[in-house]
Amino acid sequence: MSNKQLSAGDHITSKCTKCKDTTNHTIVAMVGDTVARVECNTCGGIHNYRKTATKKPAASRKTGAAKPAKVSRAESQWEALIDGADPAEATLYNIQMSAKEGDLIQHPTFGLGRVVNTTKPNKMDVAFSTGTKLLRCSLA
Ligand SMILES: [Zn+2]
Repeated sequence: MSNKQLSAGDHITSKCTKCKDTTNHTIVAMVGDTVARVECNTCGGIHNYRKTATKKPAASRKTGAAKPAKVSRAESQWEALIDGADPAEATLYNIQMSAKEGDLIQHPTFGLGRVVNTTKPNKMDVAFSTGTKLLRCSLA
């Protein structure tokens, strides 16, 4: 358990019914370890504490097509792949281009990418900041 111990006088964010928003509150009463009543720092109203809806990232999402939820992970992987790369060395993507693993690609839509895999005769996986895309190319 790494929950910070809260007590009256501490600040906490809570949903305020008057402000109809999540605002900063000061804890006015605790019941055991649970925040019971809070005072809204915006409107001064005192009300029962409501937990803010915590939007957890859908970690248990089934693996499938790359969806925006995965972007941050794809982006960090991409950053690692692009790290130290010189965009000036990137090859402007076109469907007829020849490519090999490790090549730097500049794509008009996806931006800078790194070839992470090639599949003969004409496909390559390119890691972009938004995820890995399967692109056409020409493999010798
Ligand atoms: Zn309020």
